[in-house]
Amino acid sequence: MSQKEKRHIAILGSTGSIGTQALEVIEANSDLFQVEVLTANSNAQLLIQQAIAFQPNAVVIADDSKYAEVKDALFDHGIKTYAGSDALSQVVQMDEIDMVLTALVGFSGLQPTVAALQAGKHIALANKETLVVAGELITQLAYDNRALLLPVDSEHSAIFQCLVGEQHNPIEKIILTCSGGPFRGKTTTDLVNVTSAQALKHPNWDMGAKITIDSASLMNKGLEVIEAKWLFGLKADQIEVIVHPQSIIHSIVQFEDGSMKAQMGLPDMKLPIQYALGFPKRIKSNFPRFKFFDYPMLTFEAPDTETFRNLELAYQALSTGGSSPCSLNAANEITNRAFLEGKIGFLQMAELNEQCMSDIALIEQPSLEDYFDVDRETRILANELIK
Ligand code: NDP
Ligand code: MG
Repeated sequence: MSQKEKRHIAILGSTGSIGTQALEVIEANSDLFQVEVLTANSNAQLLIQQAIAFQPNAVVIADDSKYAEVKDALFDHGIKTYAGSDALSQVVQMDEIDMVLTALVGFSGLQPTVAALQAGKHIALANKETLVVAGELITQLAYDNRALLLPVDSEHSAIFQCLVGEQHNPIEKIILTCSGGPFRGKTTTDLVNVTSAQALKHPNWDMGAKITIDSASLMNKGLEVIEAKWLFGLKADQIEVIVHPQSIIHSIVQFEDGSMKAQMGLPDMKLPIQYALGFPKRIKSNFPRFKFFDYPMLTFEAPDTETFRNLELAYQALSTGGSSPCSLNAANEITNRAFLEGKIGFLQMAELNEQCMSDIALIEQPSLEDYFDVDRETRILANELIK
């Protein structure tokens, strides 16, 4: 990575949970980072506040109807303003940018990530859905353009940190830890009538709504299994999941001599965000430190994949390959939102995801256009099934 004095960062999704925490990291390290681009979907007011505070070169509001509000507010600040999703793919290619933090949600991250990689930008990747949908294409693009894919997801950041200095040592397996979410230990009978308000109460992490619901249904861990395959070049049987309710051990790598390395710390996304933004440097921080005696018991259990079927579906999509993870992701984006809005029950999410995965035709070697088609068709089917 270039040795310029400051690293110039674009944050896609700066108004969200990851985006706002990234800005806290940047604010605390203004000698190291310069914000070049900030973007939001529709939260114009927060985007305006952030732009005035961080003075980026440009901002994008994806929702066109909010454009006038953003443009008028930033007119006197010399900040370029753009609207619409296509603008995301243009701004990420600006010469000044060194690194793009992808902190938007779902499939919407795919096109701008492709554009950023084509322009050779390093990616700090929070938007796991992009790798789930098109892992092969994205990792190839990163390789071809000598761009780094630096994981922000805490488990993948943990694995990545454990692998520093181990490039000649093959991985035997990795173990992704999983908090189990708010419904850990519940039976299918218990889950029939749970509400989205209950699902939104995550025991350890404060995150955006989509990933919080995914954590409750174990779909998040399923997406992370697929994400890990592409980031670390693993086969499905090399990726294990264990439930660790305290979320202190963020994940583990086991090498061929049987040795295991784990990365641990308090659950705080600012640490993996900062590690990705500053890589390969560890930046001094004043984040609260983990104390062993505050946690006399770290516990581990097997995930219940019969009750929480989404995790199993993700392994199936991984072994089927091709466009199958793209279908699963699209179905899940629709069912996740339908559950959030009270239109379907908790258990129906996995049922409908499974049906979409089996009904949508598989494309074995999808192109970028194919991913867009499969995503669109699956969303149509999932919406029909919900009606
Ligand atoms: P949030 O919902 O909190 O924030 C999402 C951000 O993306 C907001 O800025 C939002 O704008 C913007 N956005 C949403 N949809 C679109 C769209 N269609 N087009 C353009 N911009 C959009 O999400 P999180 O920060 O929780 O998650 C972001 C990503 O990071 C996800 O992929 C998630 O899986 C991943 N991740 C998150 C973790 C966390 O702790 N939150 C942990 C690990 C991974 P607006 O505010 O205007 O709606
Ligand atoms: Mg995670």
